[in-house]
Amino acid sequence: MPPTDADATEDRAPEPARAVVSVSDLSLTYETADGPVYALSGVDLAIAAGEFVSFIGPSGCGKTTLLRCVADLEQPTGGELWVNGVSAEAARLRRDYGFVFQAPALYPWRTIERNVALPLEIFGVPKAERRERVRRYLDLVHLGGFAKKFPWQLSGGMQSRASIARALCFDPQLLLMDEPFGALDEIVRDHLNEQLLSLWRETGKTVLFVTHSIPEAVYLSSRVVVMSPRPGRIIDVVDCSRLGRQRPLEIRESPEFLAIAHRVREGLRAGHAYDE
Ligand code: ADP
Ligand code: MG
Repeated sequence: MPPTDADATEDRAPEPARAVVSVSDLSLTYETADGPVYALSGVDLAIAAGEFVSFIGPSGCGKTTLLRCVADLEQPTGGELWVNGVSAEAARLRRDYGFVFQAPALYPWRTIERNVALPLEIFGVPKAERRERVRRYLDLVHLGGFAKKFPWQLSGGMQSRASIARALCFDPQLLLMDEPFGALDEIVRDHLNEQLLSLWRETGKTVLFVTHSIPEAVYLSSRVVVMSPRPGRIIDVVDCSRLGRQRPLEIRESPEFLAIAHRVREGLRAGHAYDE
């Protein structure tokens, strides 16, 4: 049975009535020629509808693996995982989520609108509806005027936004984002962070977001999940909701923001000490 409210643990932020993502005692071990790689171990987490949850931790701690499990692109070796109350596979088949990868992964021979339309083409969405949806989501990420351009005619930040539009085109309630802005310079990243935050506020989506950046995690999130080096475990879950939902970039200089960022940093440090 999918977990219910009754499964909520008491030492975490308020648990959802109906978790969008619910993970209990999740583990994943990759079998490799050099022996087993313990990527995740004993991960427990419940994410409510409308939350923005960031995952932060050192390289190789299993952040991508966790996201890929939620997306049913990887099979856990132990524990339980529910997405919208059903198995990850059933959620994938229902197209319950959109996935934004680390690189925009746009086809250079397709225009921006035809890149965004590709998943819709694959799933046989009729042309008129395709056109309407592509226009809607390109407008949402402020790329309405660039539909006919090719990816190489757009800046890195615009390409990122195009890949977000593509992930949104099935209107999934759940958005999985794996370091989408990692390769961008800081000013562009700031701008995209602001846009993503307002997109989240306007659409009410649930977002799982992987990042290496403490300020980015704290700025965007309702909760930040701090992970340890391999095997990836949850060290701390830091509540950021007291920053409110309207967050100007300057909030990053406020005492509340700095206190939360400090706690995330402490968690990351503790994890490193554990590894030595
Ligand atoms: P992160 O995203 O936090 O950097 P990953 O989830 O990509 O970490 O990887 C976690 C660990 O699992 C790393 O040590 C990585 O080398 C290993 N790993 C990831 N994918 C595979 C795979 N397909 N086969 C074997 N090992 C893998
Ligand atoms: Mg990764």
